[in-house]
Amino acid sequence: MAALAAREIRPGVEILLAVKGLFGKSGCTRMVQGGYNVALTPPDSVENHFLDTLRGGAWSNDQELAWTLVSRAPECVRRLETVCGCFFDRNPDGTIHQKAFAGQSFDRTVHKGDLTGIEITNRVSEQLMRRGVPCLEEHRAVALLPARGDPGRIAGALLLDIRTSEFTAVNAKCTLLATGGGPTLYKISACAQELSTDGIAIAWEAGAELCDMEMVQFHPTGVLTGEGLQITGTLLEEGLRGAGGHLKNALGERYMARYDPERMERSTRDVVARAGYTEILEGRGTPRRGVFIDVSHLGRDFVWRNFKGMAERCRDLGYDLAGGPVEVTPTAHYMMGGVKIDTRCRTNLAGLFAAGEDSAGTHGANRLGGNGVANSTVFGEIAGEAMAEEAEGSPLLPFDPETAREAQARALGALGRGESPYPIRAALKELMWQKVGLRRNGPDLEDALRAIGTLRERAAGARAEGGRAYNLAWQNVLDVRNQTAVAELIARPAIERNESRGSHHRDDFPQTREDGLYNVFIRRAGEASVLERRPVRFTRLRPEDAPAGRPASAESFVD
Ligand SMILES: Cc1cc2nc3c(=O)[nH]c(=O)nc-3n(C[C@H](O)[C@H](O)[C@H](O)COP(=O)(O)OP(=O)(O)OC[C@H]3O[C@@H](n4cnc5c(N)ncnc54)[C@H](O)[C@@H]3O)c2cc1C
Repeated sequence: MAALAAREIRPGVEILLAVKGLFGKSGCTRMVQGGYNVALTPPDSVENHFLDTLRGGAWSNDQELAWTLVSRAPECVRRLETVCGCFFDRNPDGTIHQKAFAGQSFDRTVHKGDLTGIEITNRVSEQLMRRGVPCLEEHRAVALLPARGDPGRIAGALLLDIRTSEFTAVNAKCTLLATGGGPTLYKISACAQELSTDGIAIAWEAGAELCDMEMVQFHPTGVLTGEGLQITGTLLEEGLRGAGGHLKNALGERYMARYDPERMERSTRDVVARAGYTEILEGRGTPRRGVFIDVSHLGRDFVWRNFKGMAERCRDLGYDLAGGPVEVTPTAHYMMGGVKIDTRCRTNLAGLFAAGEDSAGTHGANRLGGNGVANSTVFGEIAGEAMAEEAEGSPLLPFDPETAREAQARALGALGRGESPYPIRAALKELMWQKVGLRRNGPDLEDALRAIGTLRERAAGARAEGGRAYNLAWQNVLDVRNQTAVAELIARPAIERNESRGSHHRDDFPQTREDGLYNVFIRRAGEASVLERRPVRFTRLRPEDAPAGRPASAESFVD
């Protein structure tokens, strides 16, 4: 989206894309099932979308970012159709169909069946190919490169070609970080597995300011398969609950009555995911530590017509979604935290921009389902515009060659004899799940921080044997280094936030505190991190001035 927007406003601008996976076939956008939140038709409005986003975020959002999201989303969704050729599902009168998602006061989720991400990614990729935008596939960014003599400015990135093992230092006037966050550092995760929080790790390394890192979202319904199987955690999307699906524990109880009797299954993700986790912790889950989602009462035809992708996935995994309950578990899904941006996607480092899940501020303490892909596309476009404007007329500054040499040497140092990365990653995932997950407490977090420190040291000493070309074990060492670094960046602010808010729940501080309306910022100082609480700025709406409005449990259902 950034590349398209940049080319549109400055046709001559030189762009290079680098993707760790395959072009158009990697990342989480492709996995988007449910859809894209946008207020298109009265009586819904951008104001309603804004209010839901703030309520969902427990009022700790950057309101300017949230407003930018909701107010640009209508134009962005239209451009996805008219410029890129997406074709979203229609109502009989030809208008775009919008379905119900949790935590929203109107049905506003635009979709293409339940395979929305494939539609968006394929159509956008086609447009990039058509415009001849060059793309390096299976090239991972291993470091951001500061300008020579100016560590506060980024002048490019060091890329590693995974196929050949060659390094390329790319010199750029503007660099966009859009590696998609992705909490794959938890035992159960819904995200694309090539994601390893690289963007956040290299941005922190370069001195970028991060915020809201303690806010990790868990989705309530990841499919449960065999123990240790990577596919466990793959998602059943929120539209199932929006359409009237029931969540039940092993006793057959609709357990949401205990946690949010008004909104039930349509409560926000943080509440629903924690509820399922609590049922399991308190012994009302299944022997495999799951609960159930049941949509069979909606009718076989309805389920197959509206949720074909998920019905097929369930069938592949041995479940009959339309015919009975499917065993599910909470699954790590999304990072609200990341690199703090302003409304032009600028970071505190000149020349460095961020968008999508690498960026922070829009969602506050909890992202609404459907606001993720809206966030990536809206801010992707904005980043492209801002970068093209900034690049025009500004000089190309040389990068610091010493940083590039050091980063290359560090990456190459991961080859040879030493501990395998896999036990380190397994230990990290288990630790994060148990102690920095859906329900946290001070002593566990302190323990986790110490254990993460040890895992970081082990990751620094981990090695991969074999040659350099297409050595996936080597890539996994680099991954686990980044994941252990980011684990610490999650645990530290989680200790700092001594209250419960949105996705961050502390059993030792279960209340949301009135004085908790701050964001925790974190940045590197030498090898350590400096944390700072900054009060939320209510630039558009104070919580006490919010209209009572329509309750977030809208009663309408998808048909
Ligand atoms: C299963 C699933 C379902 C979802 N459903 C919805 C939904 O219905 N609605 C919604 O709004 N949101 C949904 N989300 C969230 C949504 O997918 C994300 O918010 C959004 O797609 C993130 O977009 P992005 O561009 O930031 O990152 P991504 O789309 O993940 O792209 C990141 C890209 O960066 C590349 N990359 C990673 N590391 C590096 C590196 N070191 N160097 C170079 N390249 C790198 C990756 O290969 C990838 O191509 C879902 C997420 C998942 C996992």
